[in-house]
Amino acid sequence: MIEPQRWNVGTATITSIVEDEMLHIPPEFFFPEGTATAVASHDWVIPDFADADGNVGLRTQALIVEHEGRTVLVDPCVGNHKHLAQFFWDQQEWPFMERFLAAGFTTAGIDTVLHTHVHADHVGWDTHLVDDAWVPTFTSARHLYTAGEMDFARATIDHPQMVHVFHESIEPIIDAGLADIVAVDAELGAGMRLESTPGHTPGHVSMWLESNGERALITGDFLHHPVQCAEPKWAEIGDADADMARKSRRRMLTIAAETGVLFVGTHFPNRPAGRVRVDGDVWRFVPEPG
Ligand SMILES: [Zn+2]
Ligand SMILES: [Zn+2]
Repeated sequence: MIEPQRWNVGTATITSIVEDEMLHIPPEFFFPEGTATAVASHDWVIPDFADADGNVGLRTQALIVEHEGRTVLVDPCVGNHKHLAQFFWDQQEWPFMERFLAAGFTTAGIDTVLHTHVHADHVGWDTHLVDDAWVPTFTSARHLYTAGEMDFARATIDHPQMVHVFHESIEPIIDAGLADIVAVDAELGAGMRLESTPGHTPGHVSMWLESNGERALITGDFLHHPVQCAEPKWAEIGDADADMARKSRRRMLTIAAETGVLFVGTHFPNRPAGRVRVDGDVWRFVPEPG
C-alpha cells in the first residue's frame, strides 16, 4: 500500500485519496488547442506531469481536509459501477474505498462533502450500489452543491455524458435529505470558504482553506493540468463556456501567484500540490512533496 500524500496548512491537513491516474494521454484528447510538442516545450512539466514526448497525465482524487474537528471531503471522484459515456470511467471497479479506509478515514467520520461542480468525476462516491439500488455512502455528511450546479445537473439530464449522473449520484442524496444548496461564496467554517470560478460549469466553485496564517486553494476544474499555467488559453474539452473558464483561470492563477498559496490541482497527476510562480507573461507550477 502506497502511503497517501498529505500536506500541512497551519494546523490543518489535506490528504489525497487517489481513485485513478491516467498517463501518456495525447494532450489534444483533453485540450483541443494543445499538442504534445507544445507541452514538451515547457520543460518543467516533465517528468511529473507529462512524459518526454509531451503526453500528459491526469488524476482523479478526493481531497480530505481535516481542521478544528471538521473532516471535509472535496470531490468524491467517479465511483464504481456507474453507467457513464466516457469509456475510461464506465463500469469501473477501483479500490478507492479500500484506500480511503486504509488512510484512517471512515464513511461516518466525513461531516461535509463539497462538490466543486457536478460532473461525473466529482460526485461518484457519494453513492454506491447495494442490491441494485444506489445508496448514500457518507451518511453523516451534509452534501453541498451550489444552486448553479444543481440547476446545471437538472438541465443536462438528457445530455449523453450526464444522463445517469443525476439519477445514480445526486438524486439518492436529495432523497435521503442529505443535500444542501450553498452560496458560491459560502463560509463553511473551520477556515474554509468557497469562491466562484465559473466557466467550466455555470456554478463552479473552488475552496480556500486558512489556518494559522497559511492558505491553500483546492482548484476543482478551473484548470485541469499544470501545463495550463503556461498555456492558460487552452480550453478543456468539458468547459461549458470556454471564454469564461479562461477568465476564471487567469484570475485565480494571478491570485495564486500573488499570495503564494498552496495550490492543490484536483486533476494534477503525481505531485498535485505546489506553488504558482509568475513566468514571463504566464505562470509555472512548482510542486511540493506530500
Ligand atoms: Zn469537470
Ligand atoms: Zn473533473
